[in-house]
Amino acid sequence: MKLISTRNKNVEMNYSEGIIKGIADDNGLFVPQSFPTIDIKTLVDDDYQTIAFKILYHYLKDEFEADQLNNIIAKAYDDKFSNPSIAPMTTYGQLHFIELFHGPTLAFKDMALSILPYLLTASKVIADLDEKIVILTATSGDTGKAALEGFSDVKDTEIIVFYPKDGVSPIQKQQMITQAGENTHVFGIDGNFDQAQSAVKEIFTDQDFKATLKTNDYIFSSANSINIGRLLPQIVYYFHAYMQLVRQGTIALGEAINIVVPTGNFGNILAAKYANTMGLPVNRFVCASNKNNILTDFINTGIYDLNREFMQTLSPSMDILISSNLERLLFHISNQDDQLVNQLMDDLKTDGRYEVTPTMKENLNQFYGNFCTDEETLQTIKTVFDDWDYLIDPHTAVAVKVYEKYKQDNPKDQHHTLLASTASPYKFPGSIADALSIDASGIDDFQLIEKINALTQVKIPKNIASLVSKDQRHQQSIAVDEMRSIILKALTID
Ligand SMILES: *Cc1c(COP(=O)(O)O)cnc(C)c1O
Repeated sequence: MKLISTRNKNVEMNYSEGIIKGIADDNGLFVPQSFPTIDIKTLVDDDYQTIAFKILYHYLKDEFEADQLNNIIAKAYDDKFSNPSIAPMTTYGQLHFIELFHGPTLAFKDMALSILPYLLTASKVIADLDEKIVILTATSGDTGKAALEGFSDVKDTEIIVFYPKDGVSPIQKQQMITQAGENTHVFGIDGNFDQAQSAVKEIFTDQDFKATLKTNDYIFSSANSINIGRLLPQIVYYFHAYMQLVRQGTIALGEAINIVVPTGNFGNILAAKYANTMGLPVNRFVCASNKNNILTDFINTGIYDLNREFMQTLSPSMDILISSNLERLLFHISNQDDQLVNQLMDDLKTDGRYEVTPTMKENLNQFYGNFCTDEETLQTIKTVFDDWDYLIDPHTAVAVKVYEKYKQDNPKDQHHTLLASTASPYKFPGSIADALSIDASGIDDFQLIEKINALTQVKIPKNIASLVSKDQRHQQSIAVDEMRSIILKALTID
């Protein structure tokens, strides 16, 4: 099994090397050269860890020993997840929420970032690399904390995180700036997530900068979902959830389902597509966006157009206009046309816009795209709580609202539906209070959390409760053009 780049399919790369590099030298993203298929009936009785092994081993078996991979999985998916099933499911009618937020940082990023550090450390040994690794990460709020938690005090590794200083929730910020670990570095930037992500990508491919690092015995890697090591572990929970439905007798083995995903960088929904390519029966993928609805327009028209305003919404982890993983989808739906992908990415760079071919547009038909406003997000949190006594976060609410729109547009569709529930509502207490008309005046987020708990009886995760008393270790904020110099400083390179 090998990786190839979306911008040059002729260069084959080992998985271990691809995981270390994060992004290809030609600026493309690594994708599997081919997809293994898996016989779903062999997974029916398996727990999360066993399914994770069966999926990942298909990709990694030329490079990783079976025992080694099993060990990695056991360490990644242990009791740092507060629920023993790792990704439990909650059902209302035909809608099944896969709760992906029971990991240490309370968002779905933990599903992959709890395993990535182990995969990366093992990859270093496999690839016989001596350099220390610098994990460079741009975050819209959740990746940063999950990566910090995963890489904190990992040997021979430094982790540097950049977040938009006014673009994350107060709890997300507190989670990051209180991060422990001698090797952790966190900076707010004067800019939005797209600016942070673009700057990080540029630094990644800046040959001079990389050479400077190399002479100081450092190499870059990425914890963002551009890293294939993020995507593969995300395939697992879709199979796991499907098997739960089969075991409960809700669906028959082989029956197709819909999958709804609140989407930003297109990583989570792409992992669902990869699961489908490997043999998971899927009818439609529902791509849910907030008012930054560039993906909705893309799915409906085949035109990706950046010439629009960036908006801050109540679902900040989806406030993204440059959706990185879409490049991988373009490669797949163009039948691996790397030249065309180069062309489209050039168009995006020069005109801020590209249009896919009619064949590619047709291949997008399996995706449904729609979006929802902040008002609809709050209304949905309230309705779901009133009707089902179930508390969801603003990102999950976007997905629920868009699922409703999907049902209105497709009234005959009777498929059972998995919905990716991506964060704990306690990460966004301000929005929850607004939605449920809880008076938040004059109190801070932590007092507000107590109030929400009193009203809803939803348990406060211990990693939120303990945040209030933690030392704020990382207070610095910088301009986007200071990122290079701050990296050198963090690594004590002159
Ligand atoms: C990252 C994130 C998303 C978006 O996921 P992508 O893989 O970037 O599409 C949605 N919801 C939450 C809570 C997130 O943290």
